[in-house]
Amino acid sequence: MYKKLFIPGPTHVVDEILEATAVPMIGHRDSLYSDLHGQVVSKLQQLLYTQGRVLLSTSSSTGMMEGALRNCVRTKALMTNCGEFSKRWAQIAQANGKEIGTVQVESGQAITPEMVDAELAKGDYDTVCITHNETSTGVMNPLKEIAAVAKKYPDVMVCVDAVSSMAGAEIRVDEWGLDVVLAGTQKCFALPPGLCVVSVSDAAMERAAQVPNRGYYFDFIALDKSAQKNQTPATPVISLINALNVQMDRMLAEGLENRFKRHAQMAGYVQDWARKQFALYGDERYLSHTVTNIHNTRGISVAGLNKELATRGAMISNGYGPLKEICFRIAHMGDLQMEDLKWLVGQIEDVLGL
Ligand SMILES: *Cc1c(COP(=O)(O)O)cnc(C)c1O
Repeated sequence: MYKKLFIPGPTHVVDEILEATAVPMIGHRDSLYSDLHGQVVSKLQQLLYTQGRVLLSTSSSTGMMEGALRNCVRTKALMTNCGEFSKRWAQIAQANGKEIGTVQVESGQAITPEMVDAELAKGDYDTVCITHNETSTGVMNPLKEIAAVAKKYPDVMVCVDAVSSMAGAEIRVDEWGLDVVLAGTQKCFALPPGLCVVSVSDAAMERAAQVPNRGYYFDFIALDKSAQKNQTPATPVISLINALNVQMDRMLAEGLENRFKRHAQMAGYVQDWARKQFALYGDERYLSHTVTNIHNTRGISVAGLNKELATRGAMISNGYGPLKEICFRIAHMGDLQMEDLKWLVGQIEDVLGL
């Protein structure tokens, strides 16, 4: 039985998008592909409120996180650790021999601009890595405010993992001064996995040009050179790019503000329910608009709940990493609607006898 996915990626994909992946193949050096690429990029620029370049990468988001670090970090990057996905930035940096410093908050807390400012003031950083929405804890960091303090340090590139927020929450790349912002398509874009989009500022391109050993597959210079011809250096995932083009039309037809509001409203609904029946996990001031992390105060078996939900056609997520048994998560992203969440909550109450 098909289970509607209420997990924080991959998320539910509507039929129209599935159908848009199943189109006859075109050659990636054909002008048909370049037309498609150009259309997708201009719609992504609208989504990200940017006049700058948006590159398409056939990879999961983790690949492009590595790309961001390889292209931007000359010597040392600041990590802002608030959970398991922000930790991944540090793991990738270290695997690539980059020096790191870290600001760290307890699980469920948000990174603040003050912390980042105090650490960048030490002076030896050339990059700061931020996780906009920490999917493991359900906390959305104040990206705009953090980026604003980072801008006091012109040498510091601002690299943002927006994997679980882009297309579900507002991100204004140009106005907020974000150098690299990346996201895979299996979260708020509500497409299948395998494609990653990334905005790259002129400053980040200038930085890349000064950094040796950027690697090959994620080299911004090579990706940008091809992108100027609406191409990619290697064969792209054409089926998903076609589906993304259709999805961007749907998104722009919904209206970006409406879309962000819908995510916030679904989050509010799930948060209210969680407060009533369980408790919320993270700092109330920074709750995510795209995924709610619920403190399992009743000590229910999440695996047992999910097994029952499976027979009713739904799937939620357990806590992530160290929170595996302590929390469970309900994602409300992409093409899920308020009615879906109301239905899900009804099913959970029924299973648990609440
Ligand atoms: C899902 C997720 C990732 C990893 O994405 P992949 O597509 O699996 O590489 C990274 N960061 C955040 C915040 C995520 O939610």
